[in-house]
Amino acid sequence: MNPTPKTKQHLSRVEAVIVSELQGATENKNTLSTSEEENVNKKQELQLKVSSMAGRRALKAVLIDLSGTLHIEDTAVPGAQEALNRLRQASVAVKFVTNTTKESKRNLLERLQRLNFDLQEKEIFTSLSAARSLLEQKQHRPLLLVEDSALEDFTGIDTTEPNAVVIGLAPDHFNYQTLNKAFRMILDGAPLIAIHKARYYKRKDGLALGPGPFVTGLEYATDCKATVVGKPEKTFFTQALS
Ligand SMILES: [Mg+2]
Repeated sequence: MNPTPKTKQHLSRVEAVIVSELQGATENKNTLSTSEEENVNKKQELQLKVSSMAGRRALKAVLIDLSGTLHIEDTAVPGAQEALNRLRQASVAVKFVTNTTKESKRNLLERLQRLNFDLQEKEIFTSLSAARSLLEQKQHRPLLLVEDSALEDFTGIDTTEPNAVVIGLAPDHFNYQTLNKAFRMILDGAPLIAIHKARYYKRKDGLALGPGPFVTGLEYATDCKATVVGKPEKTFFTQALS
């Protein structure tokens, strides 16, 4: 039988994601047990399956989300470091993909290393990287509606006389004046580029508004569609693997 949600709770989120992947990819689904007592066996079996699937070229890479999966703010998700270390022993590529709009890649790396995660900067692909790459490709000069902490990922990008709007989650900049400037630029033909469109995200003090409602507000006001560069866009995942 397939793992029940209850059984999944005994695995870390990372492992649960892999279990889901395996469920979709494995022909014989009956090898995963539902018994809680056999949970340890199941973890070992999971590890073997990752190895064997990689051996059969069925699974070449694992893309792991960060916030809410490996950590919540400055707290590691229990068991996540251990799960990652085990995954490192399998012959699959590991990349970390995240829809951050507030944290630069360097900030993320430092935070994760403080929490004892084993990873390198080059293994992280963020929605900010995806936005930068689109700006370079299209030669756009952006109005950057992102938090100051994210600006270093746009170092070297020309922002004089902006002709495109890039919007992430920027609580310190989301005021009427700035949003109205973006609104007028879009009306004048500037493309609207959204880092991502999450409706909300999880913080220690509860759920909080994501960039989605603000992106959607500009779309509504201008009757334009944003180009979304972060998850779950296919181009995001393709770029992350390249
Ligand atoms: Mg997440």
